[in-house]
Amino acid sequence: MPVTGWVEVSDLYCKGCELCISACPQEVLNLDMSRLTQKGYHPARIYKDGCTGCAICAVICPDAAITVYREVTKVIPTRA
Ligand code: SF4
Ligand code: SF4
Repeated sequence: MPVTGWVEVSDLYCKGCELCISACPQEVLNLDMSRLTQKGYHPARIYKDGCTGCAICAVICPDAAITVYREVTKVIPTRA
């Protein structure tokens, strides 16, 4: 079953420590250097396709800043 994912990073909690970036097996995370959070950090973000929704980033984040969404596409077999 094909699985795709997406994550949201909370500006309120992210402190730009990069632990999630190092942990992501798909290497789809980086820091958004174009903006700062209210606390003055460059926040993590997804910057390219490939997230599987594995949630490793969310587990490793010490500040619980990441919410993971996963979409599962069911393949329904058709009768010939
Ligand atoms: S591990 Fe958490 S706090 Fe650190 S950069 Fe990633 S989302 Fe931000
Ligand atoms: S859910 Fe998995 S693949 Fe997606 S950004 Fe987090 S660690 Fe990477």
